[in-house]
Amino acid sequence: MATAPALTTPVGLLACQKDTYLNVLDTTVIACSEKPNSHGQYEVELADTVLFPEGGGQPSDHGSIDDLDVRLDHAQQHSAQHLLSAILETKYGLQTVAWNLGEQRSHVELKTERGFKLSSQAIADIEQSCNNAIRRSMVVNVEVRDQSADTQPNSIPADYNGGVVRHIIIDGVDRNPCCGTHVNNTAELQVMKLCSTDTIRGGNTRLFFMAGGRVIDYAQSALDRERRLTTILSCGPNEHADAVERLGKQQRDALKSAKGLFGELADFIASDLKQELQKTGFAAYHREEGDIAFLSAISHSLGRQHFEAGGSGAALLTAGAAKAGGPVLIVGQEEAVATLSETVKSSVSGVRGGGKGPRWQGKATSWTGLDRALDSIKKHQLA
Ligand SMILES: [Zn+2]
Repeated sequence: MATAPALTTPVGLLACQKDTYLNVLDTTVIACSEKPNSHGQYEVELADTVLFPEGGGQPSDHGSIDDLDVRLDHAQQHSAQHLLSAILETKYGLQTVAWNLGEQRSHVELKTERGFKLSSQAIADIEQSCNNAIRRSMVVNVEVRDQSADTQPNSIPADYNGGVVRHIIIDGVDRNPCCGTHVNNTAELQVMKLCSTDTIRGGNTRLFFMAGGRVIDYAQSALDRERRLTTILSCGPNEHADAVERLGKQQRDALKSAKGLFGELADFIASDLKQELQKTGFAAYHREEGDIAFLSAISHSLGRQHFEAGGSGAALLTAGAAKAGGPVLIVGQEEAVATLSETVKSSVSGVRGGGKGPRWQGKATSWTGLDRALDSIKKHQLA
C-alpha cells in the first residue's frame, strides 16, 4: 500500500476529534489495497476521517465509505427511471408499478394486460423522447415539505412519520415523491438506451434500460466483442451475422458428410473384425478419437455382417485416449459376451458396465493397460 503522508491530516486534528458529532465528511482517498482482504474488504486510507481510528484506550468507530462513482451511477439510473416513467405515463398512458436498479440493466415494471406488447417502434419513440429531455437540460429539483395530511402522497407507507415529504421534480415533466439520490439536471444523464421487454406475472411488462456511464460502458464492451469477432471471422462487423450463419451451415453439412463417412468406415472395420472372429472367435478394436456412437455403428455393421448370419464369438470395441479412458462395447454370442466381459473387467483396471445377452456396455477410466490386457484376454479366450 503506497502512502502519501503529506496529504493526511495528523492525528489530533482529525475531523472526528475536532467535532465529536460530525457524521458525514467529504475527503480524499490517499491509498487503497489492490485486492480485498480475507473478509472481502478493501483497506482504504483517507486524508481525514469522521471515524475515530482507535487510541488512548478507546476502540475504533465503525462506518462505511460511499463510492462517488457508484453514487453517480445510481443517481443516473434513478433519475432516468423517473424520466422514463413520466414519458411512459404521459405519452402512452402506461403506469409504472415498480422498478429495479440492476447490476447491469435496470427495469420499470408497467401495469399491462396479458398479451400486451410494446412495439419496437414505440420503444424507439420513447427512447427518443427520453434523450430529447436529456438534451433540453432540464433542472431536477428536490422539494422537501413538512409532513401533513395534505402533503402525504399515497405511495408513502402509512406508518412513515419522518416529519417531511420529499418530491423529485423534473422541470415541466415530472413530480414524484421519492427518497433516492438524483442528478441535478437531466443533462447529467448523458444518454439513455432502452434495451428489451419481457412479460411477467399477471401480464405486466418489464422494460429494461440503461443510462449515462452504463451506456458508454456497454458500447465499449460491444466494440470489444465486435473487434474479437472481426479477428475470428476475418470480416467486418456488417458481415458477422452472415458469417456465423454460413459457419453453422458448413458445420451441419460437414457433420452430415462425416456421418456418412463414419458409416462406411464402420463397415470396413466390421469386415476386418469379422475375419478375425471367423479365425479365432475373438476380435478387438480401439480408436483413440472414437465415441460410443462410432462403436455402436461398428457393432451394428458387425451384427449384420457376422452375428445375424450365424457367426460366433465376441468382439471388444473400445475408444478414448490412454490416460482419459472411454467407452467399451462387447457384442456377439450371449455366452461369449458374458465370458469376455468378465475377462475384461478382471484384466483392465477401472472398467465398469453392464448388459444382458448379445451386448455389454461400459466405461473405463484409463486405457494405459489395454495392450497387455488384450494379450491376456486372447490367451484366456483361446484357451
Ligand atoms: Zn424515485
